[in-house]
Amino acid sequence: MDNQFAQRATIGSEGRLAQLFGGQLGNQGIKFSAGNPDPNSFPTDRMGTAINSVLHQTGNQLFEYQTVVGPNSLRTQLAKRMEKTADIATSADQILLTAGGQQALDLVGKLLLNPGDEVAVEAPTYVGALAAFDQYEPTYYDIELADDGLDIDQLERTLRQHPHIKLLYTVPDFHNPTGITMSIDKRQRLVQLADQYDFYILEDTPYRDLSYVGSPLPAIKSFDRAGRVIFISSFSKILMPGLRLGWVTASPTIVNKLRQLKETNDLESPALMLAAVDEFMKTNDLDHHIATLLPSYHQRLTTMIDALDEMMPKSVHFTRPTGGFFIWVTLPTGFNAADILDQVVIPQAQVSYVPGRVFYAHQNVTNTFRLNFSGVEPTEIITGVTRLTNVLIPLLSQ
Ligand code: PMP
Repeated sequence: MDNQFAQRATIGSEGRLAQLFGGQLGNQGIKFSAGNPDPNSFPTDRMGTAINSVLHQTGNQLFEYQTVVGPNSLRTQLAKRMEKTADIATSADQILLTAGGQQALDLVGKLLLNPGDEVAVEAPTYVGALAAFDQYEPTYYDIELADDGLDIDQLERTLRQHPHIKLLYTVPDFHNPTGITMSIDKRQRLVQLADQYDFYILEDTPYRDLSYVGSPLPAIKSFDRAGRVIFISSFSKILMPGLRLGWVTASPTIVNKLRQLKETNDLESPALMLAAVDEFMKTNDLDHHIATLLPSYHQRLTTMIDALDEMMPKSVHFTRPTGGFFIWVTLPTGFNAADILDQVVIPQAQVSYVPGRVFYAHQNVTNTFRLNFSGVEPTEIITGVTRLTNVLIPLLSQ
């Protein structure tokens, strides 16, 4: 009966996301492959207090059906916060609360993409976005990443050749998987190009507040005058991923359409979680909570960079992010990071990383991998990088 599945269910049945969690590590294993926040950073008790408090205040009504848009007061708080921290002028009615940023990515794909529609993506880019878009069968165009964000000149050349490109997807702050941040200049040029060539920009920002050196840059959305930028963010990395809460802000027309699509998908997000996060933000300073996360993540980041600097052979290149969760490593051409992981790194070093292939729209680059530092203690980071380099060095010098 499997041949009766719809096309979208058969695309990448060995799904991109499935490849993220592969590899069996033993007890001594060190996992650089996850993308997790540090669970010790979760304000579990304070979230418990918020949950109890909304149960008390609202009672049975909290467990009734609500509306797809979610509580006005949470959306108002988010609108104010986006104005303050990202220079985005928006309002509660231009915000849709979603089941994590992931649902927002899927809804945007559903809204904009017919089979064959042209989408420009960073190469590499966030695997979960590619997995969501894959279902709608777009034609992808790869745009290379420089140290200061996507190669705008290449994007412009691509737009000249393919003027029907409809959407550009970007993770401008502490990009997943590379950790790269797009410069202000490029953010402005990108919006100008979108105006000139008439395409939407999907700005995905779950890491934007996790800046360990200086403040985050103004959002791409802050330069948007024509309503072309769809801005997505999430509570996953700044609070807890298990809340499954994210949000979108965009033009009223787009938000209305996304609202309809979300309704057909799940009617609404869970009211208890929405009310609890609303209460949490009223009774706690979210910015202060985020500020408490930064020193420990920063320490993990510098520990990993120092260890890589000290131990990796010069033929191996890696990014030097100033925020987020990830470092991106490039092996010399000809090396296959997936084979090396399975054959050497997991069995001999008991370390895991994510081979880079899944992060490319065309899955055509094999000599890169992603390291996560946010979920690993500093001492483990040093042990893990030592074990990793010990098995890589003999391979690379062959
Ligand atoms: N976008 C990016 C760039 C991400 O890294 C992630 C999570 N890893 C998401 C979206 C989705 O996160 P969530 O659904 O938990 O908000």
